Amino acid sequence: MRIAMIGTGYVGLVSGACFSDFGHHVTCVDKDAAKIDALHRGVMPIFEPGLDRLVERNVRGGRLSFTTDLGPAVADADAVFIAVGTPSRRGDGHADLSYVFGAAEEIARALAKPAVVVTKSTVPVGTGDEVERIIRETAPEAQAWVVSNPEFLREGAAIEDFKRPDRIVVGTDDERAADIMREVYRPLYLNKAPLVFTSRRTAELIKYAANAFLATKITFINEIADLCEVVGADVQDVSRGIGLDNRIGPKFLHAGPGYGGSCFPKDTLALLKTAEDHQAPLRIVEAVAKVNEARKRAMGRKVIQAMGGEARGKTVALLGLTFKPNTDDMRDAPSISIVQALQDAGARVRGYDPEGTEQARPLLPDVDFCDDPYDAAENADAVVLVTEWDVLRALDLKRLAATMAEPVLVDLRNVYPPEDVMSAGLQWYGVGRTAPNPG
Ligand code: NAD
Repeated sequence: MRIAMIGTGYVGLVSGACFSDFGHHVTCVDKDAAKIDALHRGVMPIFEPGLDRLVERNVRGGRLSFTTDLGPAVADADAVFIAVGTPSRRGDGHADLSYVFGAAEEIARALAKPAVVVTKSTVPVGTGDEVERIIRETAPEAQAWVVSNPEFLREGAAIEDFKRPDRIVVGTDDERAADIMREVYRPLYLNKAPLVFTSRRTAELIKYAANAFLATKITFINEIADLCEVVGADVQDVSRGIGLDNRIGPKFLHAGPGYGGSCFPKDTLALLKTAEDHQAPLRIVEAVAKVNEARKRAMGRKVIQAMGGEARGKTVALLGLTFKPNTDDMRDAPSISIVQALQDAGARVRGYDPEGTEQARPLLPDVDFCDDPYDAAENADAVVLVTEWDVLRALDLKRLAATMAEPVLVDLRNVYPPEDVMSAGLQWYGVGRTAPNPG
């Protein structure tokens, strides 16, 4: 099977590389010539564990290639995937579909044989209808079936997620298109991954409903964490206590600084916009989006409180800047709001991240970036663990305490047991838990 992947970002590159690993012939297309050049040199444009080896193996096997030239890749393909970005539209929060529609038009002009055109980008309900209309109007002779196949991979575990998905959702009413999609996913289908066939509109909505539900779960436990702090309960134990209930499940119940990343913030907003457009309000999701936004800045205030209520003239070291570990993605990372809140209050901010510094620099002006967590902590008035990278899970707390001006550790991920932090000579502040009484 020959596949063209339009858009070679986090989703397009990982999906394309995995499809080629299944034995398909994949051409990844991107408009960004620098990205394609880098890939030709074997340099990955993103940090994703295992991706370089996967790409290298399939390029060497002759199954995976990269180009800026969409035409030949599409002309040759049995399946054309659209994996371009759908960021929030400036001003109203609606998904910006200009890249999807632009790609659809280019694809229509290049189609030379019957093919499925598959939207993998996260797109609002009804986008497939519009893609179909664009293709029909641009190339009335072309034979194309427009299918929805939303992607559920998580950055940082993207290859594993793609190769061992909980489910694959395919939205189409056409049996021929369904057959091609079964062929595309054959190795996973043989591996018993559930292939869920639905209408196209339903598939489009499943993706948003899944992300909104996960965002709700995170926000729920974050609010419970706030309550825990006030009433003297421990959110870690609450999470465990409710997560062991099979009807609830333990995942996405870790209290922290609020969700961020390239998907949840923009997808919840886009879903709300769709709901508003169709006069079917989603009040729970509305509350989730509001509570989460407020929470990210509130984390800045939490740090200031930990420093005795005054930030002016103080230095704060943030450890971990990306929205989660094992990715260099800084889109909508909570660190951005925390830095802003601290700088607004007059603090000087230093930052350390194992992989995200390059992406963080333009988004975090006036932050001093360090190459090492202990350098960041030197003479700082507080150290804040924002993102729980493995290298930040086993810091030498005594060394940290010795190098700081004031020994304050704010652990926004509840990585360190408070007793360990305190016995290293640091004041401890966590999320949803109160400090144990000394002695
Ligand atoms: P990205 O910004 O990393 O990549 C998109 C790429 O598309 C860019 O490299 C851009 O240059 C390219 N592009 C845009 N228009 C093009 C065109 N006409 N021809 C060729 N290339 C073009 O985006 P991403 O994070 O990979 O997300 C892609 C989509 O997948 C979004 O809708 C997103 O919501 C969804 N999604 C993302 C994730 C994730 O974890 N990142 C997970 C699931 C779904």
